Amino acid sequence: MAQRSFIVIGAGVIGASVAFRLAQGGAKVTVVEAGDIGRGTSCNSFAWVNAHDKSPRAYHDLNVAGMAAHKHLAKELRGDWYYESGCLEWRGAADREAHVANVGRLQDWGYNAQWITADQALSFAPSIDPAALGESPVAWFPDEGWVDTTSYVRGLLAAASALGTTVVTNARVTGVECAGHKVVGIKTETGTSYRADTVVNCMGRWADDPVLPNELQVPMSPSYGLLVYVQAPGVHLNRVLFTPHCHVRPDASGMLLICKNDAIHALGPNYVIDVAMPEANALIQEASKIIPALASMRASEVRLGIRAIPADGLPAIGPFPGVDGYYVAITHSGITLAPAIGSIVAAELLNEDSEVTLSAFRPDRLITAP
Ligand SMILES: Cc1cc2nc3c(=O)[nH]c(=O)nc-3n(C[C@H](O)[C@H](O)[C@H](O)COP(=O)(O)OP(=O)(O)OC[C@H]3O[C@@H](n4cnc5c(N)ncnc54)[C@H](O)[C@@H]3O)c2cc1C
Repeated sequence: MAQRSFIVIGAGVIGASVAFRLAQGGAKVTVVEAGDIGRGTSCNSFAWVNAHDKSPRAYHDLNVAGMAAHKHLAKELRGDWYYESGCLEWRGAADREAHVANVGRLQDWGYNAQWITADQALSFAPSIDPAALGESPVAWFPDEGWVDTTSYVRGLLAAASALGTTVVTNARVTGVECAGHKVVGIKTETGTSYRADTVVNCMGRWADDPVLPNELQVPMSPSYGLLVYVQAPGVHLNRVLFTPHCHVRPDASGMLLICKNDAIHALGPNYVIDVAMPEANALIQEASKIIPALASMRASEVRLGIRAIPADGLPAIGPFPGVDGYYVAITHSGITLAPAIGSIVAAELLNEDSEVTLSAFRPDRLITAP
């Protein structure tokens, strides 16, 4: 049988995972990336591996598959990117009922979610101020963790390259080449054309970029997240903390990473993301309610993450309706999902069987065929 050929647009966690599994399946793969590898949302992410609060059930199950795939992949490639640290969660009084209900639901679904005492929580993360826990029950999720995403993307693309994949960086795709209702290739801003049997769009939050013809865009609903890195000498934290104030975890840089979902809502035209921005210090002060030593510390680095969220919040993964030779893989929670999506998508594209179905996440629920 002739070797199948694929162009993967985008070298984030999703593109790197899809490219690696396609190459492993014997395909000829070319990855085309607008910038440097892994510099999109994947390196501006909290990168917590979890299936903690994901609905509906099919989305939870896909995230559980992602968690299992991380363990497997890190062993398969001897990767140093996956940290199975476990996660501690507690909530404020207003959210306590919802917290108890969510943990109960997760337990009913067979997810490894345990109630632990405050003393146990403090033994897992001694730098936490006992007062921060208040009266809240504390949940412990031993199978959760986090990923050093730069190392992940580099590791997967190195493995894909060893299998013959070509990775082209600093080459923004500016057009898709079609023959009737079939996509046959792409062209980049330098005017270079690439041809393949199938183009796989792994452009993340740029999936609705006007460089794509209107009819090949995925409707998106992005949101912002602020990520504050702090050098915190003397603070030892080995877990992910999911708290009423913010999320905190260790990072491969040796710094602590602090994130809050609603720390930033909109960006004005003159918005500058840097260590002096008031939102960064406000986030550190929130984190100091959990780890008091942080109160006197300053941000070493601040990043803005823009989430790659398809319009209804769920992944959009599958053949593009009404267009041959064009497939999309766009999702939030992409750090958790990437290794599973890589395997499932490659199996589908290479006509192999997969144990996990993507039927709940097909793009045709968001897109009308042209
Ligand atoms: C603040 C924040 C916190 C998050 N926390 C978590 C979390 O805890 N756990 C979790 O699982 N997920 C989390 N996510 C989501 C996760 O980070 C994303 O779902 C994931 O990074 C998406 O990966 P991707 O490969 O699709 O996108 P990206 O990493 O953005 O990769 C897309 C690539 O496409 C390239 N590209 C774009 N346009 C073109 C073009 N025209 N030509 C060529 N290349 C192009 C870009 O340069 C980019 O490198 C978070 C996201 C944010 C923003």
